[in-house]
This record gives sequence, structure tokens and C-alpha cells, in this order.
Amino acid sequence: MKPWIEVDLDAILSNYKLIKEHVKKDLIPVIKSNAYGMGLIPVANALKDVTDLIAIGDIEEAQTLRLSGFNGALLLIVPILSREEAELCVHYNVCAALDSFDMASILSDAAKRSSKIIDVHIKVDIGMHRFGVKPEDLDGFMDEIKYLPNIRVRGMFSHFPLGASHITEEQFKTFASLSSKHKDLMIHLPNSQNTVENFDSLRFIPRCGLLIYGSMPSEVASIKLKNVIKLKANIVKIHHISAGQSWSYGYSYTAQKDSRIAVISIGYSDGLKRSLSNRWSAKVRGNICPLRGTINMNFSFIDITGFDNVRVGDEVALIDEDLKVEDMAKIADTVPHEILVSLRESIKRVYI
Ligand SMILES: *Cc1c(COP(=O)(O)O)cnc(C)c1O
Repeated sequence: MKPWIEVDLDAILSNYKLIKEHVKKDLIPVIKSNAYGMGLIPVANALKDVTDLIAIGDIEEAQTLRLSGFNGALLLIVPILSREEAELCVHYNVCAALDSFDMASILSDAAKRSSKIIDVHIKVDIGMHRFGVKPEDLDGFMDEIKYLPNIRVRGMFSHFPLGASHITEEQFKTFASLSSKHKDLMIHLPNSQNTVENFDSLRFIPRCGLLIYGSMPSEVASIKLKNVIKLKANIVKIHHISAGQSWSYGYSYTAQKDSRIAVISIGYSDGLKRSLSNRWSAKVRGNICPLRGTINMNFSFIDITGFDNVRVGDEVALIDEDLKVEDMAKIADTVPHEILVSLRESIKRVYI
């Protein structure tokens, strides 16, 4: 028995529409990393009719999508880093991010050889210090690339390292002033966290992943997202444990009273982080049952004491509308993004 993941594509669509109404402008959905584990191709196809541009995080995703027959517009949000990537962008008709003249000219040459004109978005570094043209170099950069015949600048964007903070406000001002000289371009800026925390940044088009997948990056109550994902497993064995007995590796938990403990078919190799041992719960037949004992590679243990109708074979949810990804992330001391992309690729995704 293996765990599985249920993905509600309609919920992704309805979250997308909800946020779009909230921001009152366009919204670029981000589907990098296998659409945060929800499945690149199904998610791209679900979003195709509601958006003009979808953001991906690496060129192989473009390849996968194009080979599947997907023909919607794609934006690679990581600036081109090699000649090979430039050629693939041309080949697969991907709108490319740029932050260096060398790559801009390699891209233009590659496009020329294929008799194409490639759309590009310029990435600006306002403080993340990962990629992007430095603010003081932007004017010069824009002047230089003007003369490259086979690229056409269509957008400009940046990325915040922080949520609400005075630093973000400063970075916002820097970006607003830089982009004000390029009003003809598509200007995009906030990610999910900044979309809900930095109202100013909504002057520009957001790029959102997390929000459309139903998780809140911070505690903002005004948006009610639909749950998208359920992580499920089965009960494979039930034990009667006496008060004072322990179980699983390290004996990290000892029964306080006579208990019924169920073994479930999911472990840390599936992405259920071991640090959640004794700190998370599962839902069985509508009951919230705590995880007790150390999570194993392929199995875990839940306390079903008092729920006498629970049987071997029963379905167990580890993530759902009540057991939220963002709460799990907090307990595991990480971000919801990492929880989602850690769910093993080989786990079957069922679309509902
Ligand atoms: C991943 C990413 C996003 C989306 O981030 P979320 O927190 O999921 O909204 C936006 N912009 C860039 C550049 C990214 O890498």
C-alpha cells in the first residue's frame, strides 16, 4: 500500500480567480518545480484558459510542456545562464528572463539562426542578490540590448527577499522608480507573501505560486483560499499497546494509558518530514489522531485510541483542509513551499 495525493484542479483555478479579483489586475501563476509538486502538465493545462502567461523555473519544464502538446505562453523567470538554455528558449518559444548582455546577445544570435524574435523580460536586482541587473546599471543595460535585433523587451520584474518590512518598502520604491521609465512594458513584482503583505507592491502584476495552491504565506485572514491538496495513506496494522509501553525507533513516545496504535503507509521517504514525529496529526474517519512515535522511512504511527470503528485498510489524511500545509511547515520549521515540493515525485497524483 502506497500513499497518494489528491489534487483539486478546480480549487487551483478558483484560487487563481480569487486572487486575481483581489489584486484587480493580471496575475502570473508560477508552476515551477512540478507545479509545487501538484503536477506540471495538469496544472498548466488547468490554467491555460484563464491566463496569458505562465511562469516556469527551468527550461526542462518548457520542454516537458511543449512535448506534451502544451502551447500556451511560458516565461522562464530565472535569467538565461548558458548558451544551451538560450537555444532551448528559442526552440521551445519561451519568453526568457535576462540580466546580462552576454546572454542577451547569445539569445539574439540563436533566435536569428532560427529566424525568430524572442520576447524577453529584464530582471532587476533590488536586494535579493541572486540574479538581476543592478539598479545603477539598468539604464546602460537597456541601451545596450536595444540594438540586438532578434530579442524584443516585453517585461521588467524583480523579486523581494522579505515580506512586510521597511526594507521591502525601500526596495519597492527603488523598483517603482526604475520601472516608471518603462511604462510600455509588462511590470511584475510581488510573490505570494508580498501580495498579501505589501499592498503597495500590487501596483505591479504579482507572480504567485503558493497562494494558487491554497496555502497562505502568512496570517492574513482576508483571503479565503480553497484547499487544493490532500496527502493520503492507509492503515496497514493496528496494535494494542499497554500503558507504559513504547514503540518505533528511539522509543520517542510512551503510552500514558492502554492505547490502540495504527501503523500507516507513509514515511519520511515520501516527504512526511521526520521532524513531525509526535508533532503532527492525521485524520481518520473524521477524527483527528496524533502521530505518536518516530516517523520511519516508509511508515508512521497514529494513536486511534477511542475510535473503535477505525480498521485496517482505512484511509488516513496527513494534509487536507484541516491539516494545513502552512501549519505543518511551521511545526517542521520550514516554509510551505518546501513541504509541497518534498512530497516524493513518484507518489501518485490523483486529479479530482
Ligand atoms: C517562486 C517564485 C515566485 C512565486 O513564489 P510564491 O511564494 O510561491 O508566490 C515568484 N517569483 C519568483 C522569481 C520566484 O522564484
